[in-house]
Parts: sequence; structure tokens; C-alpha cells
Amino acid sequence: MRRAVIIILFFVAILEAMPRKANFIAEFENRGLPRTPAEMELIAPLEDIWTGFDILSYDIHIKFNIPDRSIRASTTLTVALLDSLDTLFIDFSHLLEIDSLFVDNNPMEIISTNDSIRIPLGGIYGQGDTITVRVDYHGSPWFGYLVRQNPYEQNVYFSFSEPNDAYGWFPCHNVPYDKAIFCLTADVPLGYLVAGNGVITLDSVDVSGGRRIVRWEENYPMAPYLFSVAIYPYVLLIDTTEGGIPVHFYMYPEDTSKFVSDWAETPRMIEVFSLLFGPYPFEKYGMAEAPIMGGWGAMEHQTCTTYGDRLVDGSGRFKDVVAHELSHMWWGDMVTCGTWKDLWLNEGFATYSEALYIEQTQSFSAFRDYVAQLKMAYFSQEPREGRFPIYDPEYLWGVTVYNKAACVLDMLRYELGDSIFFEALREYGNEFKYSYAVTEDFRNVCERVSGRSLEWFFQQWIYSPGYPELDYWWSVASMDSAWIFHIDFHQTQTDAPIFRFPLEIQLTCADSVRLLRVMISNAWESFDFIFRARPLLVDIDPNSYVILKVNYRGTPVFSQHENHPGLFDLQTYPNPFNAELKIRVFVPAAGRYYLYVYDVQGRIVDELLNTELYPGNYTLNWKPGSLASGVYFLRLAGLGVDNSHPVLYIK
Ligand SMILES: [Zn+2]
Repeated sequence: MRRAVIIILFFVAILEAMPRKANFIAEFENRGLPRTPAEMELIAPLEDIWTGFDILSYDIHIKFNIPDRSIRASTTLTVALLDSLDTLFIDFSHLLEIDSLFVDNNPMEIISTNDSIRIPLGGIYGQGDTITVRVDYHGSPWFGYLVRQNPYEQNVYFSFSEPNDAYGWFPCHNVPYDKAIFCLTADVPLGYLVAGNGVITLDSVDVSGGRRIVRWEENYPMAPYLFSVAIYPYVLLIDTTEGGIPVHFYMYPEDTSKFVSDWAETPRMIEVFSLLFGPYPFEKYGMAEAPIMGGWGAMEHQTCTTYGDRLVDGSGRFKDVVAHELSHMWWGDMVTCGTWKDLWLNEGFATYSEALYIEQTQSFSAFRDYVAQLKMAYFSQEPREGRFPIYDPEYLWGVTVYNKAACVLDMLRYELGDSIFFEALREYGNEFKYSYAVTEDFRNVCERVSGRSLEWFFQQWIYSPGYPELDYWWSVASMDSAWIFHIDFHQTQTDAPIFRFPLEIQLTCADSVRLLRVMISNAWESFDFIFRARPLLVDIDPNSYVILKVNYRGTPVFSQHENHPGLFDLQTYPNPFNAELKIRVFVPAAGRYYLYVYDVQGRIVDELLNTELYPGNYTLNWKPGSLASGVYFLRLAGLGVDNSHPVLYIK
């Protein structure tokens, strides 16, 4: 019954989620955006080319020529020179026209090639200097800044730069790890509101000129891809958390009636995540509606998520998206993935946070069901997406980086225990607060907090593809007044390593339900347990802790013969024998078996079996050849059985 419920829930969840995911993927692919870190390097500047400097701040002034999509802008970057550089390269799309360029207020010749601005430094500026670079420019951005119609057929003016489009609308160091403080001064027509990062420090209206000037300042370091704007004749609703964090909601006027069902829970979510992850890290939180990803997606712009307007439908069924984006304030914005190869540090964490919110506000079983749904969605979509590791994935925006990584965090929690896991999470947040981290940083924190080596865990789950595919068999045998429960496991995956993981076995016996926990470390494993009541039903991983597929290979025929005296069977004929002995071995459960022949002095004279066997009957022939006539002992061992059987050889 429980499985059926999960399956039904799963399909409902998929139906709901499909438009969002489908559009999300479609939008990326339509725009020809990079699918993988490697492809990204071909399209945009290489991640590591422009090194030796650090952008400290961006001061960005943009006049938005609404209703036209063009802009006229001036961006000033404050740049610390960390090394001696002959040339400074700033990423900037060649599709926008540069009007003038200044370094420390001195006009410079504009040298722009291959989506970058080239600024000679040699002989003038050196290591340790801080310079300002001002770029005045205009044009209609092709990416990064977008104009799209909402469901009410009105244009919304908003940005969406992840992963690599920031340079499409402002000059920047286009990498996730170079974080800086940002100031945006937006000049828009009267009647429009501007949602942005950080706090408003200026909001002035020029009635005669018909313009509004709004300045947003984000004083916590931010990656360029998180810099954002959303412009529309919004209605602004403001709430605060119990802890006093302001929460700004920018809604279409037509949608305000949906606020209570769809968004009103946000301040409570902030409180819940603050208790789990540490205090909310920014000045405020906010959400602004926009037709981002066709209206079916959302983007965690720092302190101001841009939220798909199709998800504001009055049903309250997309709270998982609200929770996901909010959790990115800690995982993605406060601690940013250092490279796109480490994207799971953003997305796996945010996807797991969806489940954590359910755990905190609903029930443990609802939480486990949600994790099981994440896992099932991964299994169902992985064949299309392809099999590859979570780290440096072949596809960034799919179930491997989102769902599988979330389930890996869940397994890490199971491995470490709740208190160590959440302590490690908070410690990771503290250590890399307002900075960036890579996968090894997270591993190091987990190892330090737990005092354990987790190299094996990260190697098999993060750096390797796939998951265990586990065949199992079980049997019971009566012995005196007890029952021996025997279970065998075999990892059969061929394109992934052998995994090590703790595994729960739920055993329904005649008198009660028991939860057993075993450690699977090898390709073949077997376990025996003794109970007073007969085991009847077996459920592997009932709480969905492990990413694995299990295949039940059946109860051996043997278990149907309750009067059988032991756990193995060995018959010989003829006995006594001459020249050749036939040996029938009945194997009740899969595992490694040994069959040796001993002489009367206890020496091994022949080895007939030393191999992995599946359950079933096997027939072997033994020809003693030149051995002397006499008594020999066949010794069969394996899977907890060890017994010998005499035979008489007569030449
Ligand atoms: Zn996300």
C-alpha cells in the first residue's frame, strides 16, 4: 500500500513539475546556452583566463528606454590588481556599443575584442594598485537583460544571467567566484517599480520629466550572475519575519489575490531555514514576478528572487519552488559555487532544502516521501539525461545535479547523524560566508566536523557516476525453536564502482516488524539473523535512504522445505566410487562457496569450488586420478555453512 501511495503521489508531482522543468530546459536550449562546463568555456571567456585581479565593486547606472528594450548605461568597476598585469581584460558583449572608456577618470582608447575590453596597464599600474574602470555604453542586450510578455500581455523588463550571461548587459568579471558589492541606479518611466538587490537608498520622482530614479545597493559580496533587476508597474507588498527581516513581494496588480495562497508563507520559511542553516545572511528578502523561463522557472537573485508568473496561480502548489529559491540565499548566494562544475553545491543543497522544509513543517514521513519522489524522478529521467558524475556534470540543469545531489546530501546526513550533519552545514556556511566554495571545501568541513575521512563517500557519490543496482535473495530455515533468516546481496552495476553504504532491511516476522541495519561494502554480501518468530516479508531500504535500485531474485526453493536439516545440501554418488564421483551441491543463497577435498591427515588434496554461485543445483565431477585408495572428506563452506562429508575411493 505504501508503495502505491508513493507512486500515485509521484505521478501527480511529475505532472505538476513537468511544465516548469520542460520550459526551463527548453529555454536554455533554444537560446543555445551552454549545457556543460566544457561547452561554456567555448562560448564565453575561459574561467581561468582573466586572473590576477579582483573586482571590489560595481557602480552601474542604467537608463531603461521602456517600452523599447534598449538601454544607455555607465558601469564603473573598482579593480584591485593582485599581480603585475600588462593587460586587464573585462568581459563585455560585443553586441553592445561602447561610447567611452576611462581608467581612473582618464579617457582610454577602446580596444574591444572577442567579448572583452582590453585595458593596457604596463608601466602605469602595478601589483597592489586599485583602479577604477568606467565603461559608457548603449544598445539592446541580446541576453542577460530580457523583455518578455506576461500572461496579461504586458511587457516585463527583467534580467536572467545564470550561468554566463552577465556580460551580455554589463561589463564584469564573468565568473561565479569573483564577488563584489553592487550599486544599481535605475532610470525608468514613471509608473514603474524597480525590484533589485540589497536595499533602496534613493527613490526619487521627476514628475515633469516623467522619470523615476531608484538606487539599489547590495553591500554583501555578490557574484555577477546574481545581479538583477525586474521592472514593471508592480504592487509592492511588504512583510517582516519574526526576527525583523523585511520581505518585499513585487506582484502584478492582477495577482495580489493569490498572495496569501502562494507567497505569504515566505517569512515563516526564512525563520525555519535560519534555525537550520544559521541566521538569514542579507538585508532583506524579496520576490518579483516575471515571465522568467516562460513563467515556469525562478532564479535566486541575491535578496530578490525572480519568480515565474505561471507559478503564481492561486493554488499554493509551488511552495517547493518558493522554498528552493529562498534556500539559495544561503546555498548559492551567501556561499557561491566556485566553478560551474561545483553547481551541485547550489542546486543539490536547494533541492534538499525543499525536503527539509517539509520535514520541519509537516511530518517525518512526508519528508521521507518527498526524498523518495526526488529519487524516483531521478531514476525516471536519468536514462534520457545520461549517466555522469554530479561533479563536473555533462548536463548542468537536470536531475543529476538537482535530485541526485539532494539525495546524496540525505545519505550524508544518514551517514553522519543529524547533529553532525547540520553542524557541518552551518560550519560550511560560516567558513565560506560571502565567498565561494568548491566541492573539496565542503568535504573538508564535513571531515573536520565529523572527525572522519569521507573520501570514499565523495568519491563514489559525487565524483563517480551511477548508483548501486542490488540483487537480493533471502531464505528462512528452522533450527530447533528458532528461525534463521539468511539474505544475500549482489551489486550488479557495470558502469559504476562498487558502492559502500549502510542499508536498512525491514523484516516482518510472525510476531512483529523489525528494522535491521547492515553495511554493504562489497560486490557480494550475505547476512544471517536468528529470530524466534518466522520472518515473512522483506522490504529493502524502506525509508528510501540510499540511491539504489533493488531487484528481488526470489526466495530459494529450499525455504519451502522447512524440515530440511541445514542450510546447504551435498549429495554424492556412487559412494564408494571408482574413477569418478558425482557431487550435487544445492546452493540456497547467492554467495562465495568453497569445496575442498581433504585426506585423512587433514591435508587439502584438491579444490573443486572457489567461486561466486547463484542459488540452485550444481553438479560436479571429481576424478581422484593417481591418489591412493581410501577415505576422503569433501568440505563445503560458505555463507555461514561449513560441513564435511566422507567418501570412499576404491581404485
Ligand atoms: Zn536552484
